[in-house]
Amino acid sequence: SGRWNKAMSIFKEFEENCATPIGKLRQVADAMTAEMHAGLAASEGGGSQLKMLNSYVDNLPTGDEHGLFYALDLGGTNFRVLRVQLGGRDGRVVKQEFTEVSIPPELMTSATSGELFDFIAKELARFIATEGEGFFLPPGSQRELGFTFSFPVKQLSIASGNLIRWTKGFSIDDAVGKDVVVELTKALVRQGIDMRVAALVNDTIGTLAGGKYLNNDVAAAVILGTGTNAAYVERAHTIPKSGEMVINMEWGNFWSSHLPVTEYDQALDQDSLNPGEQIFEKIISGMYLGDIVRRVLCKMAEETGFFGDIVPPKLKTRFILRTPDMSAMHHDTSLDLRVVESKLKDIFGISGTSLETRRIVVDLCNIVATRGARLSAAGIVGILKKMGKDTVNEGEKQRTVIAVDGGLFEHYTKFRSCLKSTLSELLGEEVAHTVVIEHANDGSGIGAALLAASHSQYP
Ligand code: ADP
Ligand code: MG
Repeated sequence: SGRWNKAMSIFKEFEENCATPIGKLRQVADAMTAEMHAGLAASEGGGSQLKMLNSYVDNLPTGDEHGLFYALDLGGTNFRVLRVQLGGRDGRVVKQEFTEVSIPPELMTSATSGELFDFIAKELARFIATEGEGFFLPPGSQRELGFTFSFPVKQLSIASGNLIRWTKGFSIDDAVGKDVVVELTKALVRQGIDMRVAALVNDTIGTLAGGKYLNNDVAAAVILGTGTNAAYVERAHTIPKSGEMVINMEWGNFWSSHLPVTEYDQALDQDSLNPGEQIFEKIISGMYLGDIVRRVLCKMAEETGFFGDIVPPKLKTRFILRTPDMSAMHHDTSLDLRVVESKLKDIFGISGTSLETRRIVVDLCNIVATRGARLSAAGIVGILKKMGKDTVNEGEKQRTVIAVDGGLFEHYTKFRSCLKSTLSELLGEEVAHTVVIEHANDGSGIGAALLAASHSQYP
């Protein structure tokens, strides 16, 4: 029918605009490498879209760390608190415990900095109160904490740094420009917690540190969760001053004219809390993928009556289709696509869909997830190029491990497998054998605790 054909032309146009042929991915990888150079060269205060932030971590965990350390991970929809008893070279991680708390949405946008940090400190106090057997604090010493804070921060030292800006749905204006360690410490004092913040780390840095503790070949870390970001170990001679240096790229803010950005991405960006920023993140990460699919469905409904004469009102609600639900539809293996049917009904109130319609929904999920996964792989190749690990040097035994974490990578199977296969496609067989993508399960928490240990006030 005319309706169906019109809907299909919107679908086809979207599909074409999302295409990521290998040539385009190579251009994206090259642009990433070029931006990394530009970001490293840029003087204080910017110049490049990639901030390439100095983490002030110049020695990654050695394995000798010992003692009781806490970590606090704030960066998305949940925050985690963790404690770990480290047993040095032989004991390693003797014992660990954690708890996860979801952040009330109003605290993410309409609170003050003090209210947000008070909430966190209260949950931390509750967790400290349950410290029991197997954890040992030497008498008279203070507890120490690694603070994983996954937003762009201009660090001043290992344990201080000013918030540059919020991303991923947070916007608490009075926190911008402030030292987040000072803000957290004030909240700890208000809650009567005797604890020192020994390290402030981005989640990419924590994941890199935690990954390296388990596997010495880890050279970079990538987060694919609510947002996306990456960190890597920069070679000594390219950075004046110190030896090893770990760089938080803030790659979510990457942009290139080679990126396949569609009208739906542009609209999503314009409606966001941070228009014009984090464009790479908005094409790739878990906070946004579902909403891109929703926007295409909404346009098909509005312009072609794809779901009947009336546009289902819930199709117009931003972020109503979450990426886990998109993933569930994408992975629907039932012949009649029952999962898609029930998701369309439960989420959008759309019932009585035909099998053909449900197939189109699955195809849309596939287009959006595939584009995100392939671009993530291109970004990783950009890092490998920067590190000189995108080729095999003759006679050299080479192994580069990338620690990857985040709910999107962990749970969205088709996304993960597409990322891996695209990476092999881009690198070619010989190099692909030297590069390993390793799931660093919650490595950032342990990583932050390890960095707190190596920056402890107690020798
Ligand atoms: P954060 O990035 O907030 O620190 P996580 O790493 O746990 O937290 O990632 C959570 C994100 O992962 C969610 O916002 C969601 O987008 C994505 N996610 C979680 N579960 C799934 C799933 N089953 N399928 C696809 N994406 C998922
Ligand atoms: Mg996280």
